[in-house]
Amino acid sequence: MRNQVTIIGGGVIGLCCAYYLQKQGYRITVIEKGDITGGTSFGNAGYISPSHIIPLASPGIVAKGLQWMMSSSSPFYIKPRMDLDLIRWGVQFYKSANQATVDRNSPHLAKILLLSRELTSNIKRDLGNHFRMEEKGCLMLYKTAATEKHEIELGQEAAKFGIETRMLTAAEVQALEPDQELNIRGGVLYPIDCHLHPGDFMHTLKEHLTRHGVNLMINTEVTAFEKLGNKITGVITDKGKVETGELVLAAGSWLPVIAKKLGVHLLLQAGKGYSITYADVKKNLNFPAILVDDRVAMTPMGKDLRMGGTMEISGINKNILIKRVQSIFRAAKSYYPSLDVQFPQQERIWSGLRPLTPDGLPYIGRHTKYGNLTVAGGHAMLGLSLAAATGKLVEEIVGFQKTSMDITAFDVERYK
Ligand SMILES: Cc1cc2nc3c(=O)[nH]c(=O)nc-3n(C[C@H](O)[C@H](O)[C@H](O)COP(=O)(O)OP(=O)(O)OC[C@H]3O[C@@H](n4cnc5c(N)ncnc54)[C@H](O)[C@@H]3O)c2cc1C
Repeated sequence: MRNQVTIIGGGVIGLCCAYYLQKQGYRITVIEKGDITGGTSFGNAGYISPSHIIPLASPGIVAKGLQWMMSSSSPFYIKPRMDLDLIRWGVQFYKSANQATVDRNSPHLAKILLLSRELTSNIKRDLGNHFRMEEKGCLMLYKTAATEKHEIELGQEAAKFGIETRMLTAAEVQALEPDQELNIRGGVLYPIDCHLHPGDFMHTLKEHLTRHGVNLMINTEVTAFEKLGNKITGVITDKGKVETGELVLAAGSWLPVIAKKLGVHLLLQAGKGYSITYADVKKNLNFPAILVDDRVAMTPMGKDLRMGGTMEISGINKNILIKRVQSIFRAAKSYYPSLDVQFPQQERIWSGLRPLTPDGLPYIGRHTKYGNLTVAGGHAMLGLSLAAATGKLVEEIVGFQKTSMDITAFDVERYK
């Protein structure tokens, strides 16, 4: 039964695993409790960002996080709760937020980001650009001298991995955005970054996989497993049993919940973010931009414009803290004062859950408890950026092939 692969989770990671596995002739079933029309992989900012080589857990984030936690409209928030997993996660996050760990992890992150960047362009060539992908770079915009200094340092760090940056004055950024009034001190352009419409990307993958015989079981929830010796032989769902040869867990923020049913412990927290999408914006942005001082992402997607941000660690829920969404909107208007958009009705506010590992590196690899279990998740704010490489690596792992890069840093048992 080596030929049958079951993937749990139909987010961008699950679908990219299916994409590469299907090309190798595996019989694939993807089980998804939703209907693959919404969720975290749909409403995100749409960046493919090799520029993001520094993990969330980095020096200064703990002090900054504590300061931000005093304000209900800050970009980062941890809701205190008595939860052992949250405490364990917090301890490991704290331990990772130092220069030595960042220096150790950044090269691995850079390598998988660059691999994924290349593979995403290959997917575009293979499937056609039905997802508004634009390969023109991404801007980091800032307002203060302190942020400028930090961005210069980040640019120097990126250069070590061959990632080009262009430091721009306010006037040079303005020349790239002639239709917008800009209120900034300056910016950095990362030409290698690109962006796309994540929802269209998901629809394109879904349509391609269906056409190529992948069995997409939507509105189907995995509830338990059957095992024989050290093999998982069956996946029990609310619609019946699916027999399996290889199993891939790609359940995003639900990874710990599903892994627990297999007696596997994965340290992971959900980091909620929000986005607002405006259709048919009259004078849209030319370039996607991160408003660095406020941690807000602005993405033109064809005629549409999306703004998103905030990191809220408050468990798995869809509650909307309106003050946080207002601060995204306020930041957008303060960088682009002439932007002609209004704060939306609550029902137009989207929220999604980033799957956060403590050290900011994903979990990609086999778990030694079983002979046929692979984990692919925990990509935090980089799930779209890393989806193609993760899919490729999982295809290699499932086939017991040499992987395209060293994956020891992504060890799924590093917090055992
Ligand atoms: C505001 C915001 C902006 C972002 N911007 C970017 C960006 O610009 N670039 C970038 O690279 N990343 C970005 N991200 C992060 C990115 O969206 C995520 O990392 C990525 O979507 C995670 O994909 P996933 O497939 O692991 O998880 P998901 O998309 O959450 O998919 C997991 C799926 O598993 C399913 N599932 C769970 N349990 C079960 C079960 N028991 N049975 C069946 N199915 C189950 C869930 O329903 C879910 O659909 C952003 C995130 C947010 C919130």
